[in-house]
Amino acid sequence: LTSAEQDVLDEIESEDVDFLRLQFTDILGVVKNVAVPARQAEKAFTEGIYFDGSSIEGFVRIQESDMRLVPDPDTFAILPWRQDEDGVSARMICDVYDTSTGEPFEGDPRRVLKNAIERAESMGFEANFAPEPEFFLFTEDEDGRATTETADHGGYFDLAPKDLASDVRRDIIYGLEAMGFEIEASHHEVARGQYEINFEYDDALSTADNVATFRTVVRAIAAQHDLHATFMPKPIPRINGSGMHTHMSLMTEDGENAFYDEDDEFSLSETAHSYLAGILEHAPAITAVANPTVNSYKRLVPGYEAPVYVAWSDRNRSALVRKPAARVPAASRIELRSPDPSCNPYLAFATMLHAGLDGIEKGLECADPIRENIYEFDEAKRDEYGIDTLPTNLGEAVDALEEDEVIYEALGEHVAPKFVEAKTQEFGEYLVEVSEWELDQYLETF
Ligand code: GLU
Ligand code: MG
Ligand code: MG
Repeated sequence: LTSAEQDVLDEIESEDVDFLRLQFTDILGVVKNVAVPARQAEKAFTEGIYFDGSSIEGFVRIQESDMRLVPDPDTFAILPWRQDEDGVSARMICDVYDTSTGEPFEGDPRRVLKNAIERAESMGFEANFAPEPEFFLFTEDEDGRATTETADHGGYFDLAPKDLASDVRRDIIYGLEAMGFEIEASHHEVARGQYEINFEYDDALSTADNVATFRTVVRAIAAQHDLHATFMPKPIPRINGSGMHTHMSLMTEDGENAFYDEDDEFSLSETAHSYLAGILEHAPAITAVANPTVNSYKRLVPGYEAPVYVAWSDRNRSALVRKPAARVPAASRIELRSPDPSCNPYLAFATMLHAGLDGIEKGLECADPIRENIYEFDEAKRDEYGIDTLPTNLGEAVDALEEDEVIYEALGEHVAPKFVEAKTQEFGEYLVEVSEWELDQYLETF
């Protein structure tokens, strides 16, 4: 056992942990758990825990269904909301191995992100990511089912007494802190019932793990208050949806911020400019992964602080990429504003990282920032500035993904075709549905 693994065994002992939840994610970003008695921890480290992968979305075909989970000891955490009822539970996030080859399973989203991280390392960089997930809190009906009635009617930064959900939010933050999160800020968002909790940046893998954990913790603690937390991007039409803006920067091997250049007008280095250019170049294909639901495209429309146009800015929030004002100039970073919290964070971060690295490798140059409100541009003006539009629906986004070799390959041979297949099917199912809106418009008119 490694010393980190031994530490976990010691903690299981001293904290009297009864159950271990071994956690991983399917390609759709849904968190899966295999629960084992805590005394199996040592075996999990040394041999792994076998499970049938054929039942997991996008993992394997039936005939090659044996998979092995090996927990990452760095991700050990006691679950704060499971400490009394059934004893103490802890979780660890796992890597998935293929039992036939003994190699890491290429269909594991965590593996896909590790591949991107290895590419960054081979270029001399370590990537830091920080997400800003937004979500809604809704009440439940008598049967415990989620409604779309918000738990309060507050507005942006609007605190008590209107913010009735502030107790819940406090408990969520305690829960996250108990699981090792460094919370930077938390506030009521623009929409009623909408919140944002920001946590500290970390390396790309830890941040993706954190997003998966975050969604689990927020939902579990909201449920304790009989509320439903949703990361669906646009649950209510005509008000803001929920995004997951993602801040990114690269560090050199000596721990310097590779995105910082004090002589540049925007404090961004040439590396940062090329990374940004890579993100803009591959933005349509990234969208398929960072905005992977039919509903995601109801958010990416003008007028609700969500991006629509492929441009960057150092000033306004209508652009796809923003250069935020840093508290310390050396903290130069860029913020991609398109991702939403329904994405698989491992796959989404992998595509972003590959896009940026591709920009660096090809020495792409970045156009000038747009300082006006792009929502107000007409088509002629957008053409004049060479500003493209993001895909307007999931079908277009999947087409863009299939046409973009860099992003398609970023997902790897196993995940890319499975992802395209699953999303093509999802979009196809949506296309044949008839919505309330259509009935309202046409049923009596024609
Ligand atoms: N909720 C907005 C979105 O859909 C973002 C608001 C903000 O700037 O934080 O992206
Ligand atoms: Mg926000
Ligand atoms: Mg932001």
